[in-house]
Amino acid sequence: MDFIDPHIHMAARTTDDFHRMARAGCAAVAEPAFWMGYDRSGTNSFYDYFRQLTEWEPKRAAPYGIRHHAWMGLNAKEADDVGFAREVIAVLPEFLDRPTVLGIGEIGLNKNTKGEVESLLMLIDLALSRGEVMLFHTPHLADKYPGTRMILDILRAEPRVEPARVCIDHCEEHTVRLALEEGYWAGITLYPTTKATPERAVDMVELYGPDRILVNSSADWGPSDPLAVPEFMAAMRRRGHAPEVIRQVVYDNPNAFCGQSRSWKVDVRG
Ligand SMILES: [Zn+2]
Repeated sequence: MDFIDPHIHMAARTTDDFHRMARAGCAAVAEPAFWMGYDRSGTNSFYDYFRQLTEWEPKRAAPYGIRHHAWMGLNAKEADDVGFAREVIAVLPEFLDRPTVLGIGEIGLNKNTKGEVESLLMLIDLALSRGEVMLFHTPHLADKYPGTRMILDILRAEPRVEPARVCIDHCEEHTVRLALEEGYWAGITLYPTTKATPERAVDMVELYGPDRILVNSSADWGPSDPLAVPEFMAAMRRRGHAPEVIRQVVYDNPNAFCGQSRSWKVDVRG
């Protein structure tokens, strides 16, 4: 069964991972701009990273039959310095116009600071002024619940937001309902240690149903698994879920969410 990984950081992975993902049925990936494990020293570092995501990564994926897309944004971890954020945000429109870019992401909160919120408001305004689809990162561990609430409050106060064009990512048991109830897509990240295991993701699908749920590996430079979505598929099969339900979560849902972007392409395979 084919799958789509709607949130993965291939820039931090090897080409062998593309090979293994293709063998496992990966048809397309979406790569949000994020923190590469170190703080960048200037706007040019972001500029080169955005070029990497839009010029080099699609070419690296293509020989494996995987369509590579990117989300452009400024991650929350580097958004606390509002002056710096303003400079980075100024270069985003050039990249948002590129042919494989889906929209603005991942943006959101990390430590839920005033500076992060100010930068986030600028990013949301840029997205809404251009009619972009948005992908939100929610904070880690103890900051997750309050940070998710803050993001949802910000979005609720903005009448231009269309919830169907927004994904609230890295949801866990205590936040997934909040996102779904307000009409957003809810992303569940499958990590070997933090975030959700495949089994916990299956629990959430069983509790809330498969509609508007996306599962992703968020595989990056840390402990993570680019084959986490196939692991979720195996866990769904073990729990007796029908192939149509599994396919909805790992293919139809990401295809529908990302398909709202003019740039989304996935090859129909035999
Ligand atoms: Zn990410």
